[in-house]
Amino acid sequence: MNKFLEELIELNRLERRLQELEPIEKSIKAPLLRLEAKKKKVLDEFDKIVNEIRNLKVKISQSELLIAELKDKLKDIEEKQSRIKSEKEYKALQIEEELAKEQINVANEEIERLERIIEQKEEKKAELEKELEKIDADITLTKLDVDKKLETIEAQKKTIYEKINNLVSQMNPQIYRFYEKIKRWAGISAVTPVRKQACTGCHMRISDKVYAEVVKGEDITTCPHCGRVLFVESEDDLKDDK
Ligand SMILES: [Zn+2]
Repeated sequence: MNKFLEELIELNRLERRLQELEPIEKSIKAPLLRLEAKKKKVLDEFDKIVNEIRNLKVKISQSELLIAELKDKLKDIEEKQSRIKSEKEYKALQIEEELAKEQINVANEEIERLERIIEQKEEKKAELEKELEKIDADITLTKLDVDKKLETIEAQKKTIYEKINNLVSQMNPQIYRFYEKIKRWAGISAVTPVRKQACTGCHMRISDKVYAEVVKGEDITTCPHCGRVLFVESEDDLKDDK
């Protein structure tokens, strides 16, 4: 077989092996990504609760401030009551006093209500904290497992890259550029086998003449329809496929 063609087939085979590792790598990382997404969700919920508790506390201080003002007002009324001159004045102050006392009651009830909500939110917050701890522990364990598996993949990738580099360094640069050019539009199928006398890149049938050339393999033959480099798989390639 033509040496250049042989090199192109080998380079393409190595690049295909690299590409096949991508989905494997992705599936190895998947459980870790799932846990991280879960953690983010819980963290968002946690932040939301912390924020809600803060807002509730602001509302409580507002009510407390209102109560303080109302108590000042009551003192004021008490003082005025000691200097009363008429029945009419007495009644007006009494109404004011009752109103202020009622407002204090309402504000106190509101504070109690808010405190109960805060209590519930604090419980939920503690639950989320526990959940986060558990997720973090899961992440640590999963990461150990994932890193170990990735190490194997990395080692495989390293070996393939070394082979590719060696091959490319001894290849004719023009042939390499020719291959890279086809790859720009054809991707990894830039070099593609002929099966049932058809190009497996564009699935078009090739003529008997072109097919005979591909079978001989004395030159680099490209598909007349799409331009991909064609070759006939050896028995070994076919065995590898299974
Ligand atoms: Zn084709």
